[in-house]
Amino acid sequence: MTPAPERALARIDLGAIERNCARLPKPLCAVVKADGYGHGRVAEAALAGGASWLAVATAGELAGLPRELPRLVMGAVTRAELREVVEAGADLVAWTDEVAEAAPRVHVKLDTGMGRLGTKDRELALRLASRPNVVAVMTHFATADEPGDGLFDEQLAAFTRFVDDLGRDDLVAHAANSAATLREPAARFDLVRCGVAVYGMDPFHEDPAGHGLEPALSLRSWVAAVRRFERGDSAGYGRRWLAEEPTWVATIPLGYGDGWRRALTNNCDVLIRGRRHPLVGTVSMDNITVALGPDTDVRVGDEVVLIGEQGAERILAEEVARRLGTINYEVTCALSPRVRREYVR
Ligand SMILES: *Cc1c(COP(=O)(O)O)cnc(C)c1O
Repeated sequence: MTPAPERALARIDLGAIERNCARLPKPLCAVVKADGYGHGRVAEAALAGGASWLAVATAGELAGLPRELPRLVMGAVTRAELREVVEAGADLVAWTDEVAEAAPRVHVKLDTGMGRLGTKDRELALRLASRPNVVAVMTHFATADEPGDGLFDEQLAAFTRFVDDLGRDDLVAHAANSAATLREPAARFDLVRCGVAVYGMDPFHEDPAGHGLEPALSLRSWVAAVRRFERGDSAGYGRRWLAEEPTWVATIPLGYGDGWRRALTNNCDVLIRGRRHPLVGTVSMDNITVALGPDTDVRVGDEVVLIGEQGAERILAEEVARRLGTINYEVTCALSPRVRREYVR
């Protein structure tokens, strides 16, 4: 077993990103906001997989994206961001006259039920969509990841009616995030906006393999110490775990300062030598501790996998999310800049 090359490493498989994009419907807009959901620089791999648009949330996230293809800023922008969007020649989502007038290429957003951005005023949206600098119309689903929720069908019907009433067939209509794309072909319109699926995570929070998706990110660290605990010895702040019997405990030099959340205290597994071991004690900023049992072959220098595969075992971001009571998106977005991203194919 080779020792892990560094303290904490997120290895990003660009081949997986490319293959995930290749599997998703086209035309595909790859959503690369929030530093590619924590994965880092993945736009080129998405394009190699057949994505023909890129989307981000903020103007600052346009930096470094290839200028040759359409880039969409989906969030509400400040005046300063609006200037950045104009300078970058990117597309901007708008739902007011003021923004629709100021941006070079506009996507008019109708709020069909998400209740967040966009206008609920259909007449305003129709009027905005008649402007010559408008290139697209869009909406966003609130419950696409909850099969059986009636709001999805209502939103789809409302947006379909809106597109029919536009009286312009030169506009690109788009609505579907990953969940909508995978569950409902009728929601795909002229372009799908996929984020989480691009990274090989499941929008329904199950096994991504069910949709032919491959997780692109693995998170690794190494065993920095292996120590013997007697019955009653505790690990970490607050003594939140006590050895019930003599056992070996490994210390792994990564913690919530890296995005390995404190709520994982006594609440997840890691892989060492192809086996699962429980995290015991409190997650601190820079370290976690893991119980190895009364006999162990684990040695200082062994590789630790926190997300990803090792031997025949595997820990998905979906599993970590379940332990935290959150979603896979938040698990990878949480990985801090202190974790170096390494790109492999
Ligand atoms: C983030 C985002 C997406 C991508 O959503 P996924 O669930 O990650 O596919 C699509 N559209 C909008 C407006 C978004 O904000």
